[in-house]
Amino acid sequence: MKSQEIRSKFLAFFESKKHEIVPSAPMVIKDDPSLMFTNAGMNQFKEYFLGNATPKNSRATDTQKCLRVSGKHNDLEEVGKDTYHHTMFEMLGNWSFGDYFKKEAIEWSWELLTEEFQITPENLYVTVFEGDKEDGLGLDQEAFDLWKAIIPEDRILLGDKKDNFWEMGDQGPCGPASEIHIDIRSEEEKAKIPGKDLVNKDHPHVVEIWNLVFIQYNRMATGKLVELPNKHIDTGMGFERLAMVMQDVKSNYDTDVFTPLIREIQAITNSTYGNPEVSGEETDIAIRVIADHVRAVSFAIADGQLPSNNGAGYVIRRILRRAIRYGFTFLNTKEPFIYKLVETLSKQMGKQFPELKKQKNLCENVIREEENSFLRTLDQGLVLLDSIIDSTKGKEVSGKKAFELYDTFGFPIDLTALILEEKGYTLDQATFETELQKQKERSRSAAQTKAEDWQILFEDDVEEFIGYDHLEANVKIAKYRKV
Ligand code: ATP
Ligand code: MG
Ligand code: MG
Ligand code: MG
Repeated sequence: MKSQEIRSKFLAFFESKKHEIVPSAPMVIKDDPSLMFTNAGMNQFKEYFLGNATPKNSRATDTQKCLRVSGKHNDLEEVGKDTYHHTMFEMLGNWSFGDYFKKEAIEWSWELLTEEFQITPENLYVTVFEGDKEDGLGLDQEAFDLWKAIIPEDRILLGDKKDNFWEMGDQGPCGPASEIHIDIRSEEEKAKIPGKDLVNKDHPHVVEIWNLVFIQYNRMATGKLVELPNKHIDTGMGFERLAMVMQDVKSNYDTDVFTPLIREIQAITNSTYGNPEVSGEETDIAIRVIADHVRAVSFAIADGQLPSNNGAGYVIRRILRRAIRYGFTFLNTKEPFIYKLVETLSKQMGKQFPELKKQKNLCENVIREEENSFLRTLDQGLVLLDSIIDSTKGKEVSGKKAFELYDTFGFPIDLTALILEEKGYTLDQATFETELQKQKERSRSAAQTKAEDWQILFEDDVEEFIGYDHLEANVKIAKYRKV
């Protein structure tokens, strides 16, 4: 089943259950100081849950463009290394605003997965909130009993607050959740370890696909929970993960959401994907990173967020630079090429998201310019790094000089460390970190005095968004970013 059909089927299913199909909200948020990017389907309905607004229709369904590179949800570090977390992804969802509750939410999710999509029920596991002493909550018996009527008890697992209790913030609507996980391993592998032992354990082939949240409490300022008069349903299912299951492949990147991009990257860079024994694991990671990041960056630009030096724009710039750097280091790309992928992307996604088609030229031009300028930075940095190495006595390179390279020229420190290691040098890490700390303090006090248009953001916060990528892990560089 093609991914477009999967998306339509999901929406049509909930439409048949009297849900209104609503459009995705923008991925870039301009009017909420607490959130830069949409990171879940429920974001656009927040005011309904808070009781500040009343929806026209008490049932809604959609596919929402999400970006998880900041705050509570930051998956950037995983992206490319694993095969099922993206920066930008679509979250399919269905909502009840004070209308139906657990029974329908659970039964419909099961009906959709096992009847409409014909997923083998034996491959599915569900989780139920086990309760929490501190909050005075016991097991979510209601959900447990509903599941028990559907699925054998040994495939119902209990989960703690971390995985099975959702909260909007320190205060406000919240409630227990049930997650649905799928085991797509071979029978042989299943015989070795039972699937239930791998749920929520970061196994690439036992993954969470759907999260059903039962919003039934309000957390008061005192921390106490009170039962809500109107209970709500909020669900989210990863579209690319569902496509992986439906297309019977083992990675989101092997679905038709990604294969056209990956094909194009291979052709342009003359590289091979999916043959790590020959091409190296890094090649595969780099290709996944680029295929993922071009989506995030293009969708952001199409939403009006250009790369820039602060706020959301800086996050987008850093994502694009991460892709450029992976290409530069592992695919040997010395010329701009990521912009060329926009054509393929807009062909693939333009029907569902017309803004991509409309803004195609803008996306291409902006990405090409960014590539040009960052590739120049990398080139210059390499020359400078060479001269630093030449002037180094012994085998340890000055942390102060490495910091200058990073600070003045924007040359990534992990690349410095990688190159030094390749050439048999080490870096004076402690001094580098001291310098970095000093600079952070300078920029923090500068940031405090200037308010951005809609987002006040310290550089520290941005560093936190970016996380540590595997380049850093490879060279075992200590965490140089304050988080
Ligand atoms: P995971 O535990 O896999 O990180 P999650 O519990 O953080 O997922 P939710 O916040 O429950 O995810 O989001 C709902 C659904 O969205 C998940 O069940 C999953 O299918 C999908 N999803 C979450 N994060 C990502 C991501 N980074 N890329 C692709 N799909 C995702
Ligand atoms: Mg997550
Ligand atoms: Mg989870
Ligand atoms: Mg979840």
